[in-house]
Amino acid sequence: MAFNLPKIRNCARCGRIFTAMHGEKVCRDCLDKEKAFEEQVVKYIRDNPGSTLKEVMEATGANEKMLNRMMQDGIFSNAAVSRDKEATYPCMSCGRPITSGTYCMDCLAKLRDQTKKAAERMQIRIKEDRKMSTIERLDALAEKEFERESRMSGIRRNFSKGMFKNN
Ligand SMILES: [Zn+2]
Ligand SMILES: [Zn+2]
Repeated sequence: MAFNLPKIRNCARCGRIFTAMHGEKVCRDCLDKEKAFEEQVVKYIRDNPGSTLKEVMEATGANEKMLNRMMQDGIFSNAAVSRDKEATYPCMSCGRPITSGTYCMDCLAKLRDQTKKAAERMQIRIKEDRKMSTIERLDALAEKEFERESRMSGIRRNFSKGMFKNN
């Protein structure tokens, strides 16, 4: 096991400065509060077997993220909480019934793909842009401005010569 030096850091929950002895991100106070809250949730589930996640959330004030984490940590078994009885609502994109989040799994995958592609396009643009140094960019800008200015003065010159007159 790696040896961790105590580290001074801000608590991820309350922001207070504390000494992390083993790389923890949350201070002692918040950890105790969290534990007490978790115990409350576990007690509710034990006293009310077969509750839906929604019922647990409403009764204890726990959010879904926390309950999912507790399930993953094995604090209570999936069987103790029913997911089947959960109310469903339509996916924002395709309307398929879902029980959590905003989009169904398919739409989420599509969305992720689109975001990735957009990010890749951005990367390419940034790379191309970086090829030009600031000086070069200023030069290019000045050149464009000069072109525009000379075109304008050409038009003005022709105009004063009467080239735009209809007769
Ligand atoms: Zn804290
Ligand atoms: Zn969908």
